[in-house]
Amino acid sequence: MEPLLRHIVIAVLVLSFLVFTVFFGRLPVFRKTPIGFLHRLIWQYFPALLRRIDSAVTGGRIYRYSSRTWNYLLYEKHPLVIIFFLGLLTISSTLLLFQTYTTFAAWHRLLIPLLLPLPYGFTYLSSRTLPNTVVTHSNHSAQVAAYPYDRILFHPNIFCRTCRLPKPARSKHCSICGTCVARADHHCIWVNNCLGRENYRWFLALLASTAVLLLYGAYLALIVYLYPRVHDRFTHYDHAFPAGLLSAWAPWPLRLKGFREDLNTVMVESIAVGGISVLGVGLLAAMTWPLPLGLLAYHVYLVWAGMTTNEANKWADWRDQMREGNVYIGRLRPSSQYSSTCHAPASSRGGSGAELGWSMSPNGDATSNSTMGRRAASNRSTPTEKNWDDYTPEPPEIKYPYSTVVGGEMWPLAPRQVLVRTENGELPRDPLPPELEGVDPESWERCHSLETVDNVYDLGFADNLREILKG
Ligand SMILES: [Zn+2]
Ligand SMILES: [Zn+2]
Repeated sequence: MEPLLRHIVIAVLVLSFLVFTVFFGRLPVFRKTPIGFLHRLIWQYFPALLRRIDSAVTGGRIYRYSSRTWNYLLYEKHPLVIIFFLGLLTISSTLLLFQTYTTFAAWHRLLIPLLLPLPYGFTYLSSRTLPNTVVTHSNHSAQVAAYPYDRILFHPNIFCRTCRLPKPARSKHCSICGTCVARADHHCIWVNNCLGRENYRWFLALLASTAVLLLYGAYLALIVYLYPRVHDRFTHYDHAFPAGLLSAWAPWPLRLKGFREDLNTVMVESIAVGGISVLGVGLLAAMTWPLPLGLLAYHVYLVWAGMTTNEANKWADWRDQMREGNVYIGRLRPSSQYSSTCHAPASSRGGSGAELGWSMSPNGDATSNSTMGRRAASNRSTPTEKNWDDYTPEPPEIKYPYSTVVGGEMWPLAPRQVLVRTENGELPRDPLPPELEGVDPESWERCHSLETVDNVYDLGFADNLREILKG
């Protein structure tokens, strides 16, 4: 029995760690850490190795079949993860409460029906497509007005080719959902939906309620139900509880050995008292509650920093570029801080830009700049692609009347800086692409650290949170 139990405990621990790595190893905080490496090992190197073996043995047949399933699981809309999560929650809580509910004190019996439905409700709210989360033709003007373009991560006049709309600041197109998502955080397979402007708050509530429920379930099963009963049985033996680790001044190896034996006895006694269901559910809850709590802690950090997961990735890209020493920061002239939030019609940018508050490029060649800008805009998604050496004039493929809404007029902070990566590490030179127009040419400085860069979306923790809760 002992080796079996030990193996179960080790297996559950390893599995918890792997689940964490598989799901969260891609987060920018784990870049260049062993967790990030393990994530790449699991998602890239290992599948590549399997594919090579498969193509040698079966001519790639297994790979083709499995990649179809895999793509379905990861890159298509399906409720399998929701069914798995809610199914596991339902089965576990039924197994636990069926045996224990009537033995609990009155306040537990009241609290349980209040807490248990919460993850179900928040999963439902997170998985629904709420009107403010998606960018549509009808709400586009309001979405553009919600946030200013910071001129670092988000630039005006960039089209989504699929939705055929200019992308509002902080939005991102999701190919799984098939729509542009406002204040996009990430596509979450847990809730089978993109987390964006309106449902992100429900996702935070889902994380918090799941962490609390798991912790509470573990407490009920292990401490409230099992502990007194197992302790009771121990008093029938001549055995201290739990002896090993606490046994005064015994040498450590002996103490650990004693602890292991005691742990084993505790397990056996627990199964005798509560059956495998109470112990199993208690252990499962005890080992999994750090997952939603850890994820919640990461999102609280993002709220504190005024970022979405999508923006955290973009900032991490900039940080990586800064390490290479090719990034310059420029200051916007005060007059152009307004123009950055103004959507001018593309066709009018050459002629009537000045009337609209656009500042021309230093050499006044606005027409060529604007065509280059559209080309650049349609190509850009990360700073690494922002190679403004190879902009070529090209007529825009999509013609859509630009919104005349002045974006972000209510937003308290306006952008003051731009970042640019130059190919050869030399100072940005004329002619500058239009997203750099309005920059004081004397202000270019090499940028080594994100600490010198403004994040206009960060209003301070309390206001960031208020902004998120508003939806
Ligand atoms: Zn789109
Ligand atoms: Zn999505």
